[in-house]
Order: sequence, then structure tokens, then C-alpha cells
Amino acid sequence: MFRTFLAIWIGRLVSFLSRWLKRGGTSLPGYIALKIDPNLMKHLTSNYKKVIIVTGTNGKTTTANLLANILKASGLKVIHNTEGANMPAGVTTTLLESPGEVAVLEVDEGTLIHVTKQVKADMVVITNLLRDQLDRYHELEQLVQVINRSLSFIPEATLVLNADDSLVTSLGLNKNNVKYFGLARNELSQEKTTEVLEGHICPICHKPLEFNFYHYSHLGNYFCPSCSYSRPKADYEVNEVKLSFQQVCFNLNYPEGEIYLKTQMPGVYNIYNVLAASSTALQLNVKPVTIMKVVDKFLPGQGRAETFHLQNKKITLMLVKNPTGLSIGLKTIITNSKEAVYLFAINDLAADGRDVSWLWDADITLLVDAPYNLIICSGLRAGDMAIRLKYEGIKMDSVVVVPEQEASVNRLLSESVSEAVIFCTYTNLALYRRILRKRGAESEVAYMSSLS
Ligand SMILES: [Zn+2]
Repeated sequence: MFRTFLAIWIGRLVSFLSRWLKRGGTSLPGYIALKIDPNLMKHLTSNYKKVIIVTGTNGKTTTANLLANILKASGLKVIHNTEGANMPAGVTTTLLESPGEVAVLEVDEGTLIHVTKQVKADMVVITNLLRDQLDRYHELEQLVQVINRSLSFIPEATLVLNADDSLVTSLGLNKNNVKYFGLARNELSQEKTTEVLEGHICPICHKPLEFNFYHYSHLGNYFCPSCSYSRPKADYEVNEVKLSFQQVCFNLNYPEGEIYLKTQMPGVYNIYNVLAASSTALQLNVKPVTIMKVVDKFLPGQGRAETFHLQNKKITLMLVKNPTGLSIGLKTIITNSKEAVYLFAINDLAADGRDVSWLWDADITLLVDAPYNLIICSGLRAGDMAIRLKYEGIKMDSVVVVPEQEASVNRLLSESVSEAVIFCTYTNLALYRRILRKRGAESEVAYMSSLS
């Protein structure tokens, strides 16, 4: 017990000092506190009414933020790791700050087991499982096994799973408390897909799955022709989607009724984020009217996609870290853009993922016919990106390789266009933001979230 008190006391002291020194956003307090008491998360969450974990490859930050906002609006005192600090040290740092009634914890899928071993979560929301940082997770099947083992420590938890992702639904096999969310066929559904297909193997008999239709990547309505496995019926299902650049409207049907939701976040992936958060809130008996109000006003936090204004240019900074993220980022941007400059800033440091072969899995066909003035490749792997563009059939006389980031911004600003988009891997994001701010760029609240 003394160890726990000491860990909490020192953790809070470090937290106070780092705030005092204006070193916000660090996971150091949790890191140090866990060194003193490795079971600290267990003690810190023991008095919560509900602990909800949100995990998955894409959308966990947006889903967890939205869910936390809905629960706060329903009158609960919610503790939530808002800064994407989703490793055990980050989770612990958040829990050290102050006690609450409900904890909404965004947890990295690869380190989930360290959290579930200690924290008796009541619910686990899984958004999707897509290829991300190959060198850390290797194969998705392996990741599924790791998550399954993580869930075995909390057999009582209700799982809230994406019915349209066969890898995620395989985690619901042989479990007691499972609720599914998904999309019915709608005007966005596609019979065929040009995007990379992951996880299209039957989790029971390991034969290839077939699809009635797709929503994006391997998310869609699937069935196994060799055995009886198919997409489970969704308890929370979206239909009648109306999509425009500025907003998305849809009906969410659930066992007790239906609610009409309107969000300012565009893109099919945001329908999933809103659906995951709303389904979880409904499952927790939050009033539909509260959910509608919060969803209507919700904007994703800055940082993942931001818009800047500099020298009469609108510059969008967008985080891309896996093939699906890049495919959908391009789809969202290019279908709405006229003449523009596109800058791809690709690094391969540890936080980006060392393996950049994911660039080859991204669907960049849209770039071939898109109107643009120039494509700039920058970052440590600028050359890899240029080769990727070349093999897609992009005209190389409109592609330049400028590895150094400051120089790449100079090149971008020298073009006489009104719009530019910078697609960044993780470690480039903060760097480009700093470069733009240093040059006097003003940022506006983004209405477009990336996938993360
Ligand atoms: Zn099968």
C-alpha cells in the first residue's frame, strides 16, 4: 500500500512540475509512477463506476473524444486521455490527474494487454483493425491473437465491435457479452473495391471471404462460401446516409428505436467513429437527445488535420500513417480540390514505423487524373514516395523531390496556387506545424479529421 501511495504522490508531483515547466502533453508522470508501483492502474481505477476502453487501428482518438463528450454532457464526471497518450504510461498519467466516475481510455491496440491485466474494464470498443506500422504489429492475424489474449483478462466486459470488419468480429466469437455496430447498404456502398484488402479470410475455416458490398478497405458485408460464417447482425446500424463535404446525416437504428444524427465531420470513416461512440453511449443508457446534440456540435481536436492560412494559400496538414489513411485522405481532398500543390512528407523514424512498404498498399490512383500544379516529396523517405508515384503512372515532370522540410515549404510557397495539402507521417506533423507557424501561418479549427 505504501508503494501505491508513494507512486501516486511522486506521479502527481512530476505532473505538477512538468505543467509548471510548461512541458505539457508528456507521459513522464505515468512512466515514473508505474516504475514505483507496476499495479498502479488497478488501484487508480478501482473506484470508478465504469471504465470504457476504446481501441483499434483507426478512429480511436475521434471515437474516444466524442464518447467522452457525450458522457460529460449526460452529467457524468469523465476522465479521459485527450492527447492521444494511449500507451500505459499515458493512461496512467491521465488517471493520476484527478478521480472521476467514468473513465474513457483510448488504448493502443498493441499494448492493450498491459492495461487489461490491471484495469477491470466494463466495456471495450474496437473500431477496426487495418494494417498499421508493419514492423510493430507484423501481421494482422497476430494482432488479433494479441487482442484476444488481452480480452481474456476481462471476461465480464461488454465488447462493442464493428460488425463490418471480419477481423474485429472474430474477436466476438465464443464471448458472452457482445454488441455489434455497422453500416447497412447505402449510396456509398461499392460492389467492388480498388483499395487494399486486409483481413478477408474467414476466421473459422480460413478460406477467403466473399463480399456483397464494401464500405472502405475490407469493411463491408461479407460471408464465407465454405462455412456458415457471415457478418453478424448489427445491434446498432446506420442507414440512409447523406454525405456532403461539410456534413454527413444518417439514421442510427437500435433495438429500442432510431435516432437521426448529423455530424460536421465528413468521410465514411467518420460515420464509423460517430456510430461507435453513439452505440456505446446508447448501450450505457444515455438519452438519444444528448447524443444528437453533442454529435451535431463535435469537431475533432486539432493536430490530426489542421488548416493554415499563409501567403494567400490555404494549407491543410493531414496525418497519414497507413495505406487506408492515405487512400481515404486523398479521396477526401482530391474530390473537393481544384488546382493545388500536394506535399508528401514521409519519414521512417520509430514513431512513424520503420517500414514504409505500406506506401505501395495505398490507393493513389486518384492522383493520376487529378488537377494539380506540383507534387513535392519530402522527408527521410522522399525518394521512396517519388518512386511510388512514378509506378502509379504520375507524370514525373510535375514531381519534385525536396527531402529537407524547410526547403520543401519554400518550394510549396513559390507555386501560385490557392490550395496546398501536406500529407505527413507522425514525426513530420509537429515539424511542419512548427515551420508554418514560424512563418506566420494562422490556423483555423479543422473540420476534417484524419483517420486516427
Ligand atoms: Zn468459413
